[in-house]
Amino acid sequence: MKEMLAGALALTLLAPALAADDALQVSGAGTRAVTTAPVQHFTGAVKVEMLHTPAGAQRASAGSVSFPPGARTAWHSHPLGQTLIVTAGVGRVQRWAGPVEEMRAGDVVHIAPGVKHWHGAASGSAMTHIAITEALDGKTADWQELVSDAQYGEARPAGAPQPSRAQVLLGDVAPKLAQLTDDVLFGDVWARPGLSPRDRSLVTVSALIALSRPDQLRSHLARALDNGVSKDEISEALTHLAFYAGWPNAISAAGVAREVFANRP
Ligand code: MN
Repeated sequence: MKEMLAGALALTLLAPALAADDALQVSGAGTRAVTTAPVQHFTGAVKVEMLHTPAGAQRASAGSVSFPPGARTAWHSHPLGQTLIVTAGVGRVQRWAGPVEEMRAGDVVHIAPGVKHWHGAASGSAMTHIAITEALDGKTADWQELVSDAQYGEARPAGAPQPSRAQVLLGDVAPKLAQLTDDVLFGDVWARPGLSPRDRSLVTVSALIALSRPDQLRSHLARALDNGVSKDEISEALTHLAFYAGWPNAISAAGVAREVFANRP
């Protein structure tokens, strides 16, 4: 027992000296500074309350960002991605060339590194989210142009459900096919755990290249990038398939890939 106490004492003495204030801090609700987000990167009066500012070797920051109805960020990307935790209200989030998606209190949104996107409140509701972002070489975001009213979707009635991509493409002429695409293909087949979304994307893109389906390939190449297939891997698949699916198919698909890549950072 005496030896154990001596050991514990030695460990205590070896532990780095931490000031009592640094060892554990409680930052009380309502005590943190609230600042206005810079107008060149935000539309509307957006308020930011930093919850955690990285110090020393830390890279992650966390801030609670409050958007009044209609307010939003500019288009931007994050070098190491971002996680949004919606804590109040109803908001919108969109990646470049993707649909405007609704997010509500309790929803968590993950944005992959380098993906151009914006986020903000719905037109009929304020929204607050906590944004968790890691810095790369001291930078957390690359800011681009403001989101126009047309992009934001001001004309859409507040609270109306956002149409899916299949509904946009097929809704008028084949609503049942749109519903099956959403519910069976994307809601069930793509969600099955037997293959990762990344592998499903590689299989699907390969099939569309081999079958020479440029319209479907265009949207599935964007989806593949979102699912973690790299541009280099898509280029490699194109080269590989030239030998199995025919040279012209691969050349045509390369043209589609160039368009898709040009819209991605
Ligand atoms: Mn963001």
